[in-house]
Amino acid sequence: MKKFGFKLITIDKKCKARVGKVTTPHGTFETPVFMPVGTQGTVKALMPRDLKDAGTEILLSNAYHLYIRPGTEIIRKLKGLHKFMAWDGPILTDSGGYQVFSLSKLRSISEEGVKFNSHFDGREIFLTPEKVIEIQEALGSDIAMIFDECPAATKDKAVIEKAVHITLRWARRAKKHHKLSSQALFGIVQGGTFRDLRRESLERTLEIGFDGYALGGLSVGEPKPEMLSVLDEILPMMPTDRPRYLMGVGTPLDFFEAVERGADMFDCVNPTRYGRNGTAFTSDGLVVVRNGKYQKDAAPIQKDCACYTCRNFSRAYLRHLVNSHEILGAELITLHNVHFFVNLVKNMRAKIRQGRFLQFKKAFFNRFDPETR
Ligand SMILES: [Zn+2]
Repeated sequence: MKKFGFKLITIDKKCKARVGKVTTPHGTFETPVFMPVGTQGTVKALMPRDLKDAGTEILLSNAYHLYIRPGTEIIRKLKGLHKFMAWDGPILTDSGGYQVFSLSKLRSISEEGVKFNSHFDGREIFLTPEKVIEIQEALGSDIAMIFDECPAATKDKAVIEKAVHITLRWARRAKKHHKLSSQALFGIVQGGTFRDLRRESLERTLEIGFDGYALGGLSVGEPKPEMLSVLDEILPMMPTDRPRYLMGVGTPLDFFEAVERGADMFDCVNPTRYGRNGTAFTSDGLVVVRNGKYQKDAAPIQKDCACYTCRNFSRAYLRHLVNSHEILGAELITLHNVHFFVNLVKNMRAKIRQGRFLQFKKAFFNRFDPETR
């Protein structure tokens, strides 16, 4: 079984955008890469063969959600998450730190761990950094994330500082407890928009040593320029020989900004969430399929898109499906959106190799209608 590895292939001559190659027990993929989100062990509305057809190379799932339901033991008995969901490519599992702090009824945070009530059935649960490692080892994901304290966006520095420090102590315990050698373990850098806390969090996470490093707690409501200035400050300090994962970001325009600054991996629920609501992402901007102006429109969502939806269906038909609340409408638009996100980031790799990333970014920004952002 192949072990996890990362190799830097090239850096664009005119900016910090880079192409890398990640090896996992379930196959290799290049970065920058977009990971569709399959929180419950399914990317909503898409079958694994649709995901492959859309060009998906790695999926994201969530340890917290799968632990709550159906339970880790069931998935372990059914030979792990890959078999359970019939996806044979790489999977990254998020630890669920973000979900514990945003979804559940939090009871208490102690040095030992977090006590909370399940958002699903209300039962009391106690999660520790070690337990979260055990859950992800049982799921058998290719990349596991440490359990971090993820406070809501705040200007209160003391709150963020406390979260940075407890996350560092939990990171040390997670690293010590992690035994599954075929599974990579990523550290998470916190610190909100406070540069000194971000630097401290990064330096001390690097001292512990992980297979890759994630930036958490961004795109949680802070103004866009603040997020970009954190990326400007922190990405150049991150090691060049490890993947850099920007968690939960974001929009096509965000990907360009982050890739230009040297980020490698992305996940976001936007393509699936918007798809279910009948909104498509295109190079021209967002297309709200239910709009009356598409009633007789024979064109596909995007003329130069190669996805199954655009090869076969008109805007008029998709609008009819959405308006009739037909499940196929959500499926077809989600498929287009995932194809769009995955292939946009894939195309960035080709442009970085040619040293033309910045031209590609400029052309994309010029074409994408800002009114629809
Ligand atoms: Zn399409």
